[in-house]
Amino acid sequence: MSHDLTLVVPVYNEQESISVFVETIKLELASIYHHIDILFVNDGSTDNTHSVISTEIENNDNISLIDLAKNFGKEAAMTAGLQHARGEAVVIMDVDLQDPPSVILAFFDLWCTGQYDTVYGVRVDRSADTRMKRCTAGGFYKLFNLLSHRTKLPENTGDFRLINRKVIDALNQMPERNRFMKGMFAWSAFRATGVPFERPERNIGKTKFNYWSLWNFALDGILSFTSWPLRVWSYIGFGISFIAFLYASHILIDTLFLGVKVPGYASIMSVILFLGGVQLISLGVIGEYIGRIFTEIKQRPIYLINNITGYYQDRDRPNE
Ligand code: UDP
Ligand code: MG
Repeated sequence: MSHDLTLVVPVYNEQESISVFVETIKLELASIYHHIDILFVNDGSTDNTHSVISTEIENNDNISLIDLAKNFGKEAAMTAGLQHARGEAVVIMDVDLQDPPSVILAFFDLWCTGQYDTVYGVRVDRSADTRMKRCTAGGFYKLFNLLSHRTKLPENTGDFRLINRKVIDALNQMPERNRFMKGMFAWSAFRATGVPFERPERNIGKTKFNYWSLWNFALDGILSFTSWPLRVWSYIGFGISFIAFLYASHILIDTLFLGVKVPGYASIMSVILFLGGVQLISLGVIGEYIGRIFTEIKQRPIYLINNITGYYQDRDRPNE
């Protein structure tokens, strides 16, 4: 088996982290370093990330850079990395050392046994995250796994993982524009196993994701892996119609036996407002799906590349 391993590292405004990252990789992965090449994907950084990586490229002969034309988001940056990585396997990791390089040794050993196509990291200690983030993340995994029947996300798992060529090829065949990579990884995992690790705090800089972007990310995840939110309205509709039928019978019998009672303002208002709300919510859900269909149908490229420099510069790009 060839042992070429590409580290795919998406970076967005990470000028302070790059050099520390490269040094740590050299130090901690010294035993397998000769098998490794590093592929940075610059996701439209507006700081000096590009020039810092260029300096690293001058000093190291195994580093490459895909420079994207603008900020396309981490999912698109990972996709660009996976479509260009040349290794027999790829490790996807963050540049902020929250995905500890030492864990890659365990990934590598498990991959070398030939028994696994995917080896993912499982965060056993999330104390580096706030309580709010832990709760919302936990709730999201539970909801996702409840709604999605075929694709189950392993809990406490991020993008940090090793995947072999078989998985990379499968991912590269997936053309969708709404790329919820955690779900896509799970969908195409083949034979998978997890390696527990403690996730440290970010060493330099700050997180690029706020709660609003995480909320949208969670919506993307659920809506691209299940149509249940769309279908549930038929059942709610049946439920409400049934209750309405019972209530209508009650009013009819009341009127027949006790005569017409004029008061009813409160009940009419509540029913109208309730149904208005239900209809708007269901329309909103349909809108969410239509918005995504619109994005898919435009068939725009997932990312645009400015240029590729370093180790991969003059290599063939078979996936383009
Ligand atoms: N990142 C990216 N594009 C973005 C946002 C983030 O490539 O639009 C990269 C970022 O530079 C880092 C990784 O994705 O290497 C994870 O980001 P971050 O550490 O902010 O996420 P968190 O660890 O807080 O989930
Ligand atoms: Mg981080």
